[in-house]
Amino acid sequence: VFVSFALAFSVMGVLLSRWMARRTLKPIEIAYNSQKDFVSNASHELRTPLSVILSGVEVLGMEADKENQFMMKTLGTMKHEVKRMSGLITELLALARSDAEQDAAGLKKQLFDVRPIAEQMIESFSKIGSEKQIALKLVAPEKMVVYGDRDKLAQLMYILTDNALKYTQPGGHVEIALEKHSSNKLDEFILSVKDTGIGILPEEQLKIFERFYRTDKVRSRKEGGFGLGLSIAKTIASAHKGEITVESESGKGSVFCAKIPLEPDTTSI
Ligand code: ADP
Repeated sequence: VFVSFALAFSVMGVLLSRWMARRTLKPIEIAYNSQKDFVSNASHELRTPLSVILSGVEVLGMEADKENQFMMKTLGTMKHEVKRMSGLITELLALARSDAEQDAAGLKKQLFDVRPIAEQMIESFSKIGSEKQIALKLVAPEKMVVYGDRDKLAQLMYILTDNALKYTQPGGHVEIALEKHSSNKLDEFILSVKDTGIGILPEEQLKIFERFYRTDKVRSRKEGGFGLGLSIAKTIASAHKGEITVESESGKGSVFCAKIPLEPDTTSI
């Protein structure tokens, strides 16, 4: 009798713990998966009509009477706005995606050399750089192996460099530096992007990491985005248990610094 009671209790215990595990884990998994599904569905649903509109506007532009200035101007505005909206969707979806993957479990971490990524990024920005007459420079050792999500850290670097170029006047300088800092507590990868641009007022330096926030200086400017880049960059840094800081002086320039803690085994490579 005792043995059969013990057996019955242990079977019930196992069933109960499985049921509890299902009850506590499932809603999180469901929420996570449904957010991921939403992001990919929304991406498709929002992009398809926009690309149809964009190609329609382009066809109209080719067929339109080039002498009709009103029509050419209207088509130009439509094209510009469709492109802007498409950019906004890309940024919003990137934000939704990084929110969904904010926990470290959502990152695809690996060991990789960041230097070639930085070189390739500078190459792709070189056209904008020479058009704006901004000197782009990379300061990095021959090899810089880090441990993190390659695509996300590349995106972070891209956002900071893109901003530095956007908010620096012709003739200025942008410097991207890759460093490793070792202290007795932890080793970290430091990406800093320094520009000689318009700078950011002290009272705005925390706000720029909020979604949709743009400083007074740039709000009236045509170029630039939607105020989402830095919040995406911050989410990426926090997912890596890191942070982004800014030091800036209005009218002189800014330095954005992303500090990403490294796993112990990356220091020896
Ligand atoms: P945006 O798409 O507007 O650039 P971000 O989130 O990347 O959005 O940046 C938010 C705001 O912070 C920008 O609109 C700008 O006002 C300010 N900012 C960001 N980077 C710089 C920089 N390097 N120099 C001056 N201002 C900057």
